[in-house]
Amino acid sequence: MYHELTEPHGRSSTVETVKSDLVVVGGGIAGVCCAISAARAGVKVSLVQDRPVLGGNASSEVRLWVLGATSHMGNNNRWSREGGIIGELLLENLFRNKEGNALIFDTIMLEKVVEEKNITLLLNTSVFATHKNADNNISSVEAFCSQNGKFYDLRGEYFCDVSGDGIVAFQAGAEFRMGAEAASEFSEKMAPEQPGKELLGHSIYFYSKDAGKPVKYVAPSFASIDGMTEDRMKRIRSQDVGPRLWWLEYGGNSDTIGESEDIKWQLWKVVYGVWDYIKNSGKFENVENLTLEWVGTIPGKRESRRFIGHSFMTQQDVVTQQPFDNAISFGGWAIDHHPGDGIYSDKPPCTQYHTKGVYQIPLGSFISKDIDNLFFAGRIISVSHIAFGSTRVMATCGHGGQAVGEAVAYCLSQTCKPAQLLQAPHIKKLQHNLNEKGHFIPNVPMQPQYNLANKATISASSELQLNALQDDGPWRPLKISAGQLLPLQKDTAYQFSVKVRVLKDTTLYAQLRHSEKVTNYTPEVILAQQSFILTAGEHLLDINFAETLAEDQYAMLCFLANPDIEIACTNSRISSLVAVFNGVNKAVSNNGKQIVEGDKGVDEFEFWTPERRPGGHNLALTINPPLNCFATTNLTNGYTRPYQRSNVWCAALDQTEAELTLEWQQQQNISEIILHFDADFDHALESTLYGHPEDRVPFCVEHFQILDAQGVVLYEKTDNYQAVVDCVLTSPISSDKLRIKLLKTHKDCPIALYEVIVK
Ligand SMILES: Cc1cc2nc3c(=O)[nH]c(=O)nc-3n(C[C@H](O)[C@H](O)[C@H](O)COP(=O)(O)OP(=O)(O)OC[C@H]3O[C@@H](n4cnc5c(N)ncnc54)[C@H](O)[C@@H]3O)c2cc1C
Repeated sequence: MYHELTEPHGRSSTVETVKSDLVVVGGGIAGVCCAISAARAGVKVSLVQDRPVLGGNASSEVRLWVLGATSHMGNNNRWSREGGIIGELLLENLFRNKEGNALIFDTIMLEKVVEEKNITLLLNTSVFATHKNADNNISSVEAFCSQNGKFYDLRGEYFCDVSGDGIVAFQAGAEFRMGAEAASEFSEKMAPEQPGKELLGHSIYFYSKDAGKPVKYVAPSFASIDGMTEDRMKRIRSQDVGPRLWWLEYGGNSDTIGESEDIKWQLWKVVYGVWDYIKNSGKFENVENLTLEWVGTIPGKRESRRFIGHSFMTQQDVVTQQPFDNAISFGGWAIDHHPGDGIYSDKPPCTQYHTKGVYQIPLGSFISKDIDNLFFAGRIISVSHIAFGSTRVMATCGHGGQAVGEAVAYCLSQTCKPAQLLQAPHIKKLQHNLNEKGHFIPNVPMQPQYNLANKATISASSELQLNALQDDGPWRPLKISAGQLLPLQKDTAYQFSVKVRVLKDTTLYAQLRHSEKVTNYTPEVILAQQSFILTAGEHLLDINFAETLAEDQYAMLCFLANPDIEIACTNSRISSLVAVFNGVNKAVSNNGKQIVEGDKGVDEFEFWTPERRPGGHNLALTINPPLNCFATTNLTNGYTRPYQRSNVWCAALDQTEAELTLEWQQQQNISEIILHFDADFDHALESTLYGHPEDRVPFCVEHFQILDAQGVVLYEKTDNYQAVVDCVLTSPISSDKLRIKLLKTHKDCPIALYEVIVK
């Protein structure tokens, strides 16, 4: 029994002080990736999240699917899925939860966080005050947990604001912007003529299910869809749930922070109004058995403050793919803006303008220019309103979050201030540290001096020389143009042969195309064309292109649409090769070609996009000279995915077991081997609802062993599905030889490895 007498002066709640190196405020995707990344690099982290679950907009409380540069595979950004921690989370989610249950994704984020002993996780704990010990230095933040009634005094050396609204940066007095800049301010052609308050609004989703018997629905009295425009009314479909309802948006003309609760109320009215309309208007068939299963209780918030860092990205930086010396992350989602009035607007619910390839994001956009020990990540980074339209998506946010975590670790280990990281040599080492973990910064390879494998002679049991992709796959009707992306060598004339089935006499056009920029995959340049006058029946076409590339780069052998032709495909799936199609993906405003009305400062170009497995077969081809881009030299070239070149080592197609040998002239002290496998960075891995046909990527080696010179197994893994496996040896060895044995995982994919790092 516990009994306290009346306390006339009242009581104070318990205050717990937590000291850490880094306080991460906000447990959305960006906060989760930041905390894990810092913790793994040895930083003591407090992760404070005001909600009961992690993930922010990606959590089961909001249920958005995590996306980034791959953009539902509807753009020309090949092999652009974000690596590192966000990549690891999505591959884990694929393995456990290919159906996309948002509750399971919650547990994956939670598990990854609680497995890190360096993280103190505070859920249901809201930061409400920020304290400084100098104008430009934060000393602590205060938080309150509504569940245990405790106040927290969270002290740290560094702070990362990933709260989505920037509560810490705001209270610390950091400069910020909110709303749209005028076009003239940064010469952004997509921006409005005058500066405006218009933001992207909030959304609330619902899920429904078939109850197996008729279920009535009586709407609450507040439900209403009054005023919803005709365009939005037409979008109501009885089967749509979750993120497919992204257009249920409102609040962009309000204060998305101060009026957030009012916006939520309006969205609740609309959500229940829409459901009432579906169930009771009589306009929808087969809805008797449907019942509401879930309705969001907090809105997904799209736009809020943007804080000013040492760099500030604008539309041009995104569209022209501006290189930054301090590049630390990348984006590739379209510049995607929505009308502020949302469902009450006559305008289309979104306008998306894609770029021709991925673009870099500088570290300077994550470091406050005003507060020395403050980082930010997520949607509040230092970019213009227009650039934010692209940087705001969650895989991009998570990728940036990881960079901040690693940056804090670097600051602590080198006792340098965040702003000093922007300069060489710090930035180079920080980029390297990230890339070694599979993060991937476009155009920034790893540095050879940190990898003992660079001093080794590497030999392989075989190396793929690709002279043919067998025609053992389906026939593909050429209803839309089809192309095969191939990493070709400069100054080399290639001959190809393909098998076609001609339904009636016709002419077929074959082209060799490439991108103007060697690291893009938008095939604007038609290098060569050959036409074939064909009669009905099967033909083997010989294609000879005399024209050659000026640089090694990907080129596309393509066949223009012709409804009277079918083309032979292969079942082989080769790392770094992919077939693309001039298809349409309306979900990301891809109508086959980007058409731009007026001068928006963005290009018109065609979309050539891959298909999801089990579709998207490579074209069956012979290639002369054979592609010899699968050599062991790729294993130490610093790239962990295709980028301009294939960058991969592949064993011969028929090898079911392959072996790599690394030999040094002197003994080496070895404690760790990091292997980068092929987790198919071309495939989007939406976290929720979307669903995927397979639970692991077929290219990825499942079973491998690392052996010493005597054949003693130093490390073995039998069930791998991750891109990066960090093989830390139980005790360091001294050796002049290492062997890596790899077993074939999938009958149609050769054994493949991108990078070997030995430390
Ligand atoms: C309807 C909608 C559709 C979208 N579509 C997509 C899509 O399809 N794919 C995609 O990838 N992105 C999409 N986005 C964008 C994306 O969801 C956001 O930009 C992204 O969530 C930003 O990540 P974040 O980590 O910065 O913020 P959040 O996900 O909002 O996370 C911030 C976290 O901080 C917490 N927090 C806030 N204040 C405090 C405090 N004081 N103390 C402690 N914790 C706090 C919040 O509870 C939250 O969990 C969409 C957004 C919306 C709203």
